Amino acid sequence: MSSNIRKLLRDETLLPFHKRMNKHYNFSLKARFTPVFRADEAASASSYWFIFQGEKLLTTVTENTSNSICTCSPEQLGLQPIFSQFLGRYGSTNCFVAEVGDNVTPAPSLRFKGLRSLFGTVEEDIFSLAGRAIQILHWNREHQFCGKCGTAMKIRTSELAKICPACGFVSFPRLSPAVIMSIIRKDHILLARAPRFPPGMYSTLAGFVEPGETLEEAVKREVREEVNVRIGNITYVASQPWPFPHSIMIGFSADYVDGEIEIDDDEIEDAQWFSLRNLPVLPSKITIARLLIDNFVLGSA
Ligand SMILES: [Zn+2]
Repeated sequence: MSSNIRKLLRDETLLPFHKRMNKHYNFSLKARFTPVFRADEAASASSYWFIFQGEKLLTTVTENTSNSICTCSPEQLGLQPIFSQFLGRYGSTNCFVAEVGDNVTPAPSLRFKGLRSLFGTVEEDIFSLAGRAIQILHWNREHQFCGKCGTAMKIRTSELAKICPACGFVSFPRLSPAVIMSIIRKDHILLARAPRFPPGMYSTLAGFVEPGETLEEAVKREVREEVNVRIGNITYVASQPWPFPHSIMIGFSADYVDGEIEIDDDEIEDAQWFSLRNLPVLPSKITIARLLIDNFVLGSA
């Protein structure tokens, strides 16, 4: 192993993934989550609550400015929720989501912060549970009424769904699958940057799956559309829930077949082949994009 690669693996932003890859690329919760669809579960002092105001989650202000999600109940905090729902059990801990109105001001020790800004800065499982919570909240907000006949929807207790009492139409939480892929050409990886990325940062290509497509077809299409190269040997690597607002990222690696990079200006502003020795600024360590890139680094080491 070259000193350059050893240095990369020692890099503190890379090491957690290195360890994680030994755990079979696992973004899963450490304890089992059991969804429960009854609306009437009682909370106890040990329950986890995820309290949102709009898109923002209630956090505790800490002295050293690190982030901590506040999982106390609205009752304990003297807050009056406008919506709350039981989500299920994380291990033996009951989990709930609640929403408070825009006019609510929490105690000075608490602050509402955007979920995206907390990504990678709080305990992973608590963040994942908060990601589940906000997706249920979105679904509740956006599916109050039947999309077919306009009647108020009712929550089902047998599955995570709502049903229209008038016409029987059933609505499930919205989930938008997206594929994300590393493209390897011997000792190079294809990475691209979108205009919204921080300066110097490149990442793997990604895009939403279209109705009727297989995941492999989506991978091929996205690569063709964004950089116009042909790929093969498409292999599943891992998946990561991406609650911004309701995605799941399904990660693949693929081998380059042929074609010169020709970028789609509407989607990306640059794409290049990078070797281990000239890697650009990379995405955050807890993203599946980074896992795919670290996988290439380790595979080339
Ligand atoms: Zn209906």
